[in-house]
Amino acid sequence: MKRVLITGAAGFLGSHLCDRFIKDGYHVLAMDNLITGRLKNIEHLFHLEQFEFHNNDVSKFINVSGELDYILHFASPASPIDYLKIPIQTLKVGSLGVHNCLGLAKAKGARILIASTSEVYGDPTVHPQSEEYWGNVNPVGPRGVYDEAKRFQEAITMAYHNFHGLETRIIRIFNTYGPRMRLNDGRVLPAFIGQALRGEDLTIFGDGSQTRSFCFVDDLVEGIVRLLLSDYVYPVNVGNPSEITISQFAEEIIQLTGTKQSIIYKDLPVDDPKQRQPEISKAREILKWEPKINRAEGLKLTYEYFKGLSKEELFESNHYNFDKYIKK
Ligand code: UDP
Repeated sequence: MKRVLITGAAGFLGSHLCDRFIKDGYHVLAMDNLITGRLKNIEHLFHLEQFEFHNNDVSKFINVSGELDYILHFASPASPIDYLKIPIQTLKVGSLGVHNCLGLAKAKGARILIASTSEVYGDPTVHPQSEEYWGNVNPVGPRGVYDEAKRFQEAITMAYHNFHGLETRIIRIFNTYGPRMRLNDGRVLPAFIGQALRGEDLTIFGDGSQTRSFCFVDDLVEGIVRLLLSDYVYPVNVGNPSEITISQFAEEIIQLTGTKQSIIYKDLPVDDPKQRQPEISKAREILKWEPKINRAEGLKLTYEYFKGLSKEELFESNHYNFDKYIKK
């Protein structure tokens, strides 16, 4: 039985990866420090013999006993308000955290895949974004803590590949959505659906003309598995190229939820990218991958999940564990 270590395993993407690797017959070692991850996302796996949970901070030294075939580094705050709240933790998990994972991969002779992001392209001046584009990132802006950590992560991963011959894979993930997103993580989809469910107005930041391209989580997970098992070491974009404005997206959520609330406009966050669309010809050619689930279908599945949350969860403003990291 192959053994895979997943960091950030209790988070949105990490928990779906745990499900997938369990389904595919792997032994899964799930690691999370539960700052933004939640045990609820993985507790349905706790009774399984081929699943183990390690409550560890990957930014500190990590080790696990036994052999490892694969490491997937998915630990990181991943929404703009999260990395504004815990900027140092965000920088650490993308730098010290990946360094620890690379060291562990080297010690175990494991292949490692790291979760990178479309944020390496910053506020892009090239559209759509292909892997050859080097990006337009403000290193000292509020998003710099995430973007630059992820850029460093790519650089150190390539260095381990080139210098130590480590087997490495780099995925650049574009906006992804689906069940188990945290309702209060501030990202646009949980924000809009949460507002609709609570009977609040939907908040558009800026004039809503900025664009994003949303990929359903099951499609992304398929892309991750294909990249992991491929022999391609350079970064690969995985995302759904279907691009819409945030205004159109708000309209789709209004349709989906039937909310009678209005739209209100708020200031656009600093350095908010104006446009984003993945160019996925590499994923198509190398991984034989493309998204299969369209937005209408994916949004329906996601809405079903959010409708099933308890009233307490719906109104919880802070069900994550930032307090000890935030300076009073
Ligand atoms: N956004 C919005 N209203 C919200 C939350 C986000 O209009 O309540 C906008 C945000 O300014 C950005 C887009 O939606 O232009 C996507 O934001 P998100 O935080 O989901 O992800 P990003 O792609 O910016 O990392």
